Amino acid sequence: MTSNLPCGRFAPSPTGLLHPGSLLAAFGSWLLARHHGGLWRLRIEDVDPPRTVAGAAQAQLQTLAAFGLAHDGPVIWQSARGDAYQTALDRLLADGHAFVCHCSRSDLAANGGIHHHCVARQPRADPAVRFRVPAGSVVHFEDGLRGRQQQDVHAEVGDFVLRRADGCWAYQLAVVVDDAAQGVNEVVRGADLLDSTARQILLQQALDLPTPRYWHLPLLLDAPGHKLSKSLAALPVEAREPVPVLRRLWELLGQLSTALEGIDERDALLATAQRSFDPGLLPRADILLPAGALSAPMLQNPPSPT
Ligand code: GLU
Repeated sequence: MTSNLPCGRFAPSPTGLLHPGSLLAAFGSWLLARHHGGLWRLRIEDVDPPRTVAGAAQAQLQTLAAFGLAHDGPVIWQSARGDAYQTALDRLLADGHAFVCHCSRSDLAANGGIHHHCVARQPRADPAVRFRVPAGSVVHFEDGLRGRQQQDVHAEVGDFVLRRADGCWAYQLAVVVDDAAQGVNEVVRGADLLDSTARQILLQQALDLPTPRYWHLPLLLDAPGHKLSKSLAALPVEAREPVPVLRRLWELLGQLSTALEGIDERDALLATAQRSFDPGLLPRADILLPAGALSAPMLQNPPSPT
């Protein structure tokens, strides 16, 4: 029997330290799940060795623990999930949803990098495997925050990669297999992943997996209007004093600051936040965050009481 309780998750790629944007997604996802008494899973998406930074995953786990964002069940490491991805891939190949592809990037350049049929000039020793996206594959879904969304995956994306030519599992396949394996039914993540959702829904349908509800939170932008990113080591969050940072993230999530007034202890603050959270207040527009807004200087210079 499946439960109706929400099950959320946070799934960082270990490409650097958590920055305020990733922590905002983590806190938003945690709040949405916990507010309704649901579960919150954790997964390390270390499926891309060339982008994995040594020690980053452990640092991310420590940061989440320092902020009190406790997860349920074991942490899943995608690097240990190859068998599950292979089983899904074998099924997609057997059902004709996937195919081996020898096309290189330069073969596809004339079509803007979009694959609609194989144009490889010669076979490769290391072919990729792609998901077949037939013409007319238009996906609709209802984003919890942004309302009705639509993407023509054939026209805009084309046949997408499931296993790369270098043998690495593609994010799209791994995320779909693991969200299902972890029982995730509420995906809350940054709006930079909105564009991936239709692909993930096509994969869920091909694998007979349930489609979670998706919420794509606004991105935090730095002063020049660029998305904060782990790989640029943007503004790591200050984990030594979690309370002021949690308070600030709470406000960035559109929640009423008065709800947390006078609470100075982390777990008390989280318990109140969990109770008071109102998904209806979540913001839709991206947020410009002045440099240093969540880093040490702000925290070391709180407004002094007079
Ligand atoms: N691993 C992705 C990241 O760190 C997030 C994937 C997801 O939430 O679906 O950007």
